[in-house]
Amino acid sequence: PTVKPPHYLDELNEVQRQAVTTTDGPVLVIAGPGSGKTRVLTYRIAHLIEQGSAPWEILALTFTNKAAREMKDRIAKVVGPRASNIWAGTFHSLFARILRVEANHIGYPSNFTIYDTDDTKSLLGQIIRELSLDPKVYQANAIKNRISSAKSNLITPKSYALNEELLAQDKQAKMPLVSQIYTKYVERCKRAGAMDFDDLLFRLYELLQNHPEVVKKYRQKFRYVLVDEFQDTNTLQYAIVKRLVQYEGSPRNICVVGDDAQSIYAFRGATIQNILDFENDFSQYGIQTFKLEQNYRSTETIVATANAVIGHNSRQIQKKIWSDKGHGEKIRVIREMDDNLEGRRVADTILEQKNRFHLQNQDIAILYRTNAQSRIFEEYLRRFNIAYRVYGGLSFYQRKEVKDLIAYLRLVVNPNDEEAFRRVINFPKRGIGDTSVGKVISLAGQQSMSLFDALRHVALPTRARHAADGFIDVIEKAQRKSATASAYELAEAIARRSGLLDFYRNDNSIEGMGRLENFQALLDGIKSFVEEDSVSDTENLPDKSLATYLQNIALLTDFDTEGDESKDVVTLMSVHAAKGLEFKSVFVVGLEEKLFPSWMSMDSAEGMDEERRLFYVAITRAELFLTLSYANTRYRYGKMTMNEPSRFLAEVPAEAVESTSYSRRSNDHEFDPLAQQRARVTGVVPPARLRGTAKFAEPRVDMENFQPSPSEEIVAGVRVLHQKFGEGKVTKVDGGAGNQIATIHFSDLAQPEKRIMLKFAKLQVL
Ligand code: ATP
Ligand code: MG
Repeated sequence: PTVKPPHYLDELNEVQRQAVTTTDGPVLVIAGPGSGKTRVLTYRIAHLIEQGSAPWEILALTFTNKAAREMKDRIAKVVGPRASNIWAGTFHSLFARILRVEANHIGYPSNFTIYDTDDTKSLLGQIIRELSLDPKVYQANAIKNRISSAKSNLITPKSYALNEELLAQDKQAKMPLVSQIYTKYVERCKRAGAMDFDDLLFRLYELLQNHPEVVKKYRQKFRYVLVDEFQDTNTLQYAIVKRLVQYEGSPRNICVVGDDAQSIYAFRGATIQNILDFENDFSQYGIQTFKLEQNYRSTETIVATANAVIGHNSRQIQKKIWSDKGHGEKIRVIREMDDNLEGRRVADTILEQKNRFHLQNQDIAILYRTNAQSRIFEEYLRRFNIAYRVYGGLSFYQRKEVKDLIAYLRLVVNPNDEEAFRRVINFPKRGIGDTSVGKVISLAGQQSMSLFDALRHVALPTRARHAADGFIDVIEKAQRKSATASAYELAEAIARRSGLLDFYRNDNSIEGMGRLENFQALLDGIKSFVEEDSVSDTENLPDKSLATYLQNIALLTDFDTEGDESKDVVTLMSVHAAKGLEFKSVFVVGLEEKLFPSWMSMDSAEGMDEERRLFYVAITRAELFLTLSYANTRYRYGKMTMNEPSRFLAEVPAEAVESTSYSRRSNDHEFDPLAQQRARVTGVVPPARLRGTAKFAEPRVDMENFQPSPSEEIVAGVRVLHQKFGEGKVTKVDGGAGNQIATIHFSDLAQPEKRIMLKFAKLQVL
């Protein structure tokens, strides 16, 4: 009798199933977008656990924390709550977790702080001042990049100082002393018990390299290692993975999935070479390679477009990709006179799609090349009352009031944290000036004592002495309490006793009130961290310490958002951030030469190829609807610029683009700028016509039930549905043609009577 396979294997096609069930030895999955690579990884983990592996034997490296969370949630549906014990997360967060346990081997405390980019720049600025160098020549940002790339290439300060090539480059850049700054920077981080993002990789590599007993421990522990988005790993990440899986001569079970055509992080040192190396490195151990060819995400039109676009790149691993979802809608191209109109038009199209296809906000994404482009779209979405969320840019945790409280918390965990110390020693103001702070830091350095000991011993005027003692007391009390109190209780006590809460409470300006709200939101966030039960340790003890909380937020990527993910909002993000995601409707905006492709990449063939892969990633996020837009002119860097349409638009096959028979509205507007302007001036916008040809394997949108309502139908007595106000009854219509105003009674509103311009309103007759 045949045994019925476990149910989850039914949700995979034949090749996917093979990739999932080939659990022993090295496995490589190279496949195009939407072909189920991430699904294979997810189901593979579920399968391993179902077959008896312990969750903590599994190490799964993902691109964002959010991706790891989603993976665990999906796995939990198969194997239950055990899923939370899988080691799934980003390289940085999982490596930080290992480093905490092993810190003593490399001369770090286990409570080390993670310096973010601002901390790094601030410390570099400080060192530049101390060395009396000109900060205009020695720019912290440029130096940060130099140091970062040195670390990624495993170059220590010592080897940097001996590296003729690097020294020559520095000289040429008129910064001959970078090597010295690097040395000092590393010393200072070490003294502060702090690691920056690069250190989390660099130090782990060193640890695994120099401590055979440690590497052995983790090789034994992680019986299964999996990597998603392998095409975007850098050399160092791959080197670490390789060290982790070499076990007594033969490698552990490793499975990596990726797509060379979607490699978009070369600027951060990622290299497709890793895929080629992987095949070589593991060939002697019987590597098995799987190619997935069916795209389950997108319509045939979108897949064909993607194939045509990427065909313009010269070098790539050959892959076939096909879809059986039917042709679906054609691709819409929007052209506008300027960036403002582009924003308006996109928001307008979103409303239209929501109506016609019954999409929810969360089905829709606007993707751009640079974060700065979000502003105009935000403005129009707000105006049109469409809820949205912007990813990237200034995150919640980068706000001043949030960073202030976090700095106090960091000091509780690690009193040597120099950047946190500098941030709050005199905030709220307590009369300890810069000179005193400078004295403390140099005393700590000279005597190699902690910052707090230095603060105790340094000579200060009476008032400052008193304030310093008070500050020490606040931190030390919290440290004593930290053994028994929860992270939330500690944070709450610090907020009060530091004077921060009062400081923000007493600020009655509008901004001040906003800050107080953020401050409060941070406390709420810590509370929910303490209460939620998902985070657990290998030993199955939930780790709710303040240290863990701080690490979690320090390692949020730009693409993880804090707070409620479940809201129904339109997503605004850079194309880089959209990797791995999918939406029913995708808008790729700002398709102009020098913007997308970016001017920074246009002077080299490799740069152009990378931009094209980026465009490829963008369009392959779409399931059903793809809209491409550009503007003839736009403000950039404070100047009006005029750009040609992006060359990528010309690479979209003509037959995939919406033809003139589709909707007069897009036709008139898009290809005839005069008609566009005419329409704007007169306000006469022909209603969109429906096309009944879309065919999907599984119809996900209800295209039958929507009736557009030409304005002739809107007369007194008719019941209508308004986007924002809900259901209402028309009581009167007045005004001339093109300028008609309806008076409508919306019974759900406090002020039910609204006068609405018909040409702007999105009304549906009921
Ligand atoms: P990307 O390269 O963009 O990361 P991917 O290869 O990781 O894409 P997934 O995100 O895993 O692709 O899958 C794309 C979509 O197709 C998802 O919605 C997934 O649930 C669905 N899918 C994958 N395989 C199957 C299948 N065998 N049957 C039904 N749906 C599938
Ligand atoms: Mg994926």
